[in-house]
Amino acid sequence: MAFFSVFSTCNRTVRKGSAMSGNESKYDVVVIGAGPGGYPAAIRAAQMGAKVAVVEKEKVGGTCLNQGCIPTKSLLASTEVVTLARESDKFGVKIEGVEPDWTAIMERKQKITDTLVKGVTHLLKANGVDLISGTGRVTLERNVAVKSADGERVLETDKIIIATGSDPAELPTFDFSQPTVMTSTDALELDHIPESLIIVGSGVIGSEFAGIFKPLGTEIVMLELMDRMLPTEDSRVAKQMRSTFRKEGIDIRLETTVSEVLEYGDDHIKVELSSGDTLEAEKLLVSIGRRLNSSGLGLEEVGVELDRRGTIVVNDRMETNVDGVYAIGDVVGGILLAHTATAEGLVAAANATGGSSVIDYKVVPACIFTSPEVGSVGLNTDKAAEQGIEINVSRFSFGALGKAMAMGEDRGFVQLVIDPETDKLLGAQIMGPHASDLIHEAAVAIKLGATAEDIATTIHAHPSLPEAIMEAAEAAHGRAIHVAPRKKR
Ligand code: FAD
Repeated sequence: MAFFSVFSTCNRTVRKGSAMSGNESKYDVVVIGAGPGGYPAAIRAAQMGAKVAVVEKEKVGGTCLNQGCIPTKSLLASTEVVTLARESDKFGVKIEGVEPDWTAIMERKQKITDTLVKGVTHLLKANGVDLISGTGRVTLERNVAVKSADGERVLETDKIIIATGSDPAELPTFDFSQPTVMTSTDALELDHIPESLIIVGSGVIGSEFAGIFKPLGTEIVMLELMDRMLPTEDSRVAKQMRSTFRKEGIDIRLETTVSEVLEYGDDHIKVELSSGDTLEAEKLLVSIGRRLNSSGLGLEEVGVELDRRGTIVVNDRMETNVDGVYAIGDVVGGILLAHTATAEGLVAAANATGGSSVIDYKVVPACIFTSPEVGSVGLNTDKAAEQGIEINVSRFSFGALGKAMAMGEDRGFVQLVIDPETDKLLGAQIMGPHASDLIHEAAVAIKLGATAEDIATTIHAHPSLPEAIMEAAEAAHGRAIHVAPRKKR
């Protein structure tokens, strides 16, 4: 069943005040964790008429609002202004004396985060959800115990949704109590722009931080254990991103990691690399993935199944193996993104309030907010090769697009992955201006089973960036207008 079932099957109403239990002090649903998985789940369950509490040990909004999506994008927005102002000559505009003001940049970031946290707190209240501060744990009676500075209380409940998310993964090579060693969370609290930075890991988060600090003047060396950066992306995207980063002066060393820390100073760190080289920098950022928050929740005690990595095992209804206990978001592994956490939260909320809904991961856009941005959805060329799926691949370069040129953003391309038999769109990878917005045209097309022909014959406004998607679709049939045909020999 498609994901829209969340909305189409949600019209069952649970009477407020715990119709299920007949006990006014008992909750129908308690959600542990108020990140982008937990708070929408709580609101949706309340919309269905359930009596709901959400337990949060830090700030509502979770990693996404406080240490992830929003603060990084706020910083990136400031960085982009710096870059644009410095390159203003290209547009025939003279701006002199461009200097980033880190304190003001950080204040702006904090203000945006605080506003959103306040907004979510208000939404929870407006929907009648009780927000309870403290650390939640599932008890043997399958209720939720909440520990806070005031002591411990138990919330009786029928259903529990675990939405405890993840924290930055650490590496034993490094002593994280040292001021020079940072997780992504620490990097968002820096009180100045570092002069030099070693980034361990060239995945999405490492690449976004490189994109934040390089334009602000930080010298960056990125280390990657694998033989390519952005290991989960399409290889063409990864290759072009590497070449873009290198042109910008970011030193990327593949198949290389830190073998040993030689010195922890107050204002520098010196490391030895697996290649034998030594490196010194003011700070070192470890961005190698996330550690899932499934321990200390009493899950093993009530028999909830976890896998070897501590991932909570769920089915497509977001149910664990224990009746009435659901889990969503980063803590169930898979695609660690805010919008997947939300989608899973809405599915769990529907099922916990008597509806029937399943999650569908066929169309999940994933974006990298670098310059240029990357957006991808569905099948890519590497996965197709791995799985032996025959595909047609068609591309169009932003360098040939009027709007992109006018914007001074002509790097990158649109790549469409098409089923050669049915002409249906199976996937898309976009690297270029506003790729994180553009990718949604491809996402909707895949969701609706659209063909390359459908996209090509949909009139797109001119001049606009989505024309690149239309041109790539035309190219799939060998008839792109703005690509010169290859000469026949
Ligand atoms: P979280 O957001 O981690 O929320 C879990 C919440 O549970 C937290 O508030 C935590 O305090 C609370 N909690 C944990 N244990 C307990 C307990 N026992 N009791 C009470 N409360 C508890 N994703 C995107 O889609 N787009 C992006 O641009 C993006 N950028 C990112 C940038 C960075 C630097 C990082 C680190 C992540 C980024 N992500 C992005 C990923 C995204 O933030 C996560 O996928 C998302 O926040 C997961 O949501 P969640 O609700 O599962 O968990």
